[in-house]
Order: sequence, then structure tokens, then C-alpha cells
Amino acid sequence: MMNENAKTGVTKKTQYVVSNWKMNGTVALLNEAIAIWQKAASHVNWIFCPSATLISYTKTHFPDVILGGQNCSAKTSGAFTGDISADQLVDVGGTYVIVGHSECRQNHHDTNADVAAKAVAAQQAGLIPIICIGESEATYIAGQTLAYLKQQVDESLVSVQGEFLLAYEPIWAIGTGKTATLDDIAGVHSFLREQLPTTPLLYGGSVSADNARAILAVDNVDGVLVGGASLKVADFRTILTSADKNVG
Ligand code: PEP
Repeated sequence: MMNENAKTGVTKKTQYVVSNWKMNGTVALLNEAIAIWQKAASHVNWIFCPSATLISYTKTHFPDVILGGQNCSAKTSGAFTGDISADQLVDVGGTYVIVGHSECRQNHHDTNADVAAKAVAAQQAGLIPIICIGESEATYIAGQTLAYLKQQVDESLVSVQGEFLLAYEPIWAIGTGKTATLDDIAGVHSFLREQLPTTPLLYGGSVSADNARAILAVDNVDGVLVGGASLKVADFRTILTSADKNVG
């Protein structure tokens, strides 16, 4: 049955919206925003990825929110100070985990092989990995985006067999206010769809209240991964509402 809110002219089976709070956010913001966002996201697969310090609190106070971690170790336990295992995320109520975010690839030197190992560890623990890929500005300008992404997909998905989401996040668009053009997004997502016919494909990179609706309407875009705008109550509400209206 068609969602009564479907007024955008676009009908999609599912719309994912992942909020990545990165190393931001407090209990106070969470308490202010969550109920508002839950109401806006009634037809959306909204996956909330706060800092690990907030996962347990969210689960306790807002048990219906679907939660994800921002990273996990490929190891199950042991002497890995500062790391978090997939089992630990499950223990506090996690369902998803982001792996291969470009900030982890850059700051922690995660390779494609590391990302694949983390995704497999996540699946073994019962989590659904959200695997991120994306090219640098130099690769984009050189016209090498698709070849680069093909290699990232091949190498970051080694032994990944169960359910996962794939997020295309051009590095040069993350946190910069620059977004890929709708044509670029359509081209990349169509290329990814050929390789991954049934995988939910998300776009990330400076998604905002102003551009979310147009991005979510692009063919083969099944959702968005949102960083900065997911910390702004009204903006993120608008993004969720844009996604909600597409679900039919
Ligand atoms: C992200 O955190 O993956 C991201 C896309 O951030 P932003 O929306 O701020 O560009």
C-alpha cells in the first residue's frame, strides 16, 4: 500500500538514513532530538550511530531506535586498548556497524583488507556492516573514480557473504560542504548496482536539509549516510522527512 506521505513523485521500497555522529554529541542533545527524529522517520530505516559511549544509554531510554557503532575491531577480544569488538556492540544493543569510513581509513590506516576483516567479524557477531568506499579528490579529477571504486569493492568485500549495506562517500565531499553532482551519484550508483544487484546502496558526503530530497530521488540510491547535519535537530528532521516521503 502506498505511504500516505508519498508526495515526492518518487517511490522507493526502502530508504535508509544513517546518522554518524562521529566524535560529537551528548546525552543532552540525544534527549532533545530523538523523539522528534523518531516521529519523522516512521517509514524510514533510520540507523543511529552515536559515539560508543551513548549506545547503551540510547538503548535503555529509546529502545525502538536502531543503533549502530562507528567502527569495530576485527578481533573478538583481547589486549587492544581503545578498540571495541563487534560482540561488545551487540552486547549494548547495536544492530549495525560502520566499517571502512574514510576517517578510519585515513586516521587509523585501515586498508581494504582490514575493512573486509572487520565486516566479517561484524557479521560473525550478528551485526550488519555498513561498508564505506569512496575516492579522493585527485582520483575524481583524474577520472579514475569507477576503477578505484571497483578495486575498493572487490577488496573490501572479500569473504563478506551475509547482509551488508554499501555507502559511497567521495572523500572530498565528506564534511566539506561539497557534494557530488546528481549525475555523478547516479553514474556511480548504477555502476555499483551492476556489481551488487540486491545490496542497499547509500550516498554520503555533505548531505543536508537542502539537498537530501534530490539525492534520495536518484536511481539506485537507497539512502544516505549523514555526518554533520545529523547533529542539527531541525536539519536532520528534514532529511528524515524527505526520506520518509519516498517510501511507498
Ligand atoms: C560522514 O560522516 O560519513 C559524512 C558523510 O559526513 P558529512 O555528512 O558531514 O559530510
